[in-house]
Amino acid sequence: MEAAQNTSYGGNDSDGESYTPRTPRRTPMACIFCRGRKLKCDGRPTCANCHKRGLLCSYIPVSAQKAS
Ligand SMILES: [Zn+2]
Ligand SMILES: [Zn+2]
Repeated sequence: MEAAQNTSYGGNDSDGESYTPRTPRRTPMACIFCRGRKLKCDGRPTCANCHKRGLLCSYIPVSAQKAS
C-alpha cells in the first residue's frame, strides 16, 4: 500500500483578491480609551491621546478577555 503521494503542493495560492497592503491585518494594540473613541493608539504605556487628556491609559490584558 502506497498512500504517501501527497506531494501535489504546487499551485497558485492566490484567492483572486487584489494585492495585500503593507499593513498586516492584525488588530493593533489600543488602550481602552482609544478603542472606545476609535483613535489611533501608539501603544505606549501612556499613549499620546491619554497623555494629552491626562487620562489613565490602561489596556485590556489578553488573558482577561478569556472567560474561563
Ligand atoms: Zn491609546
Ligand atoms: Zn491610552
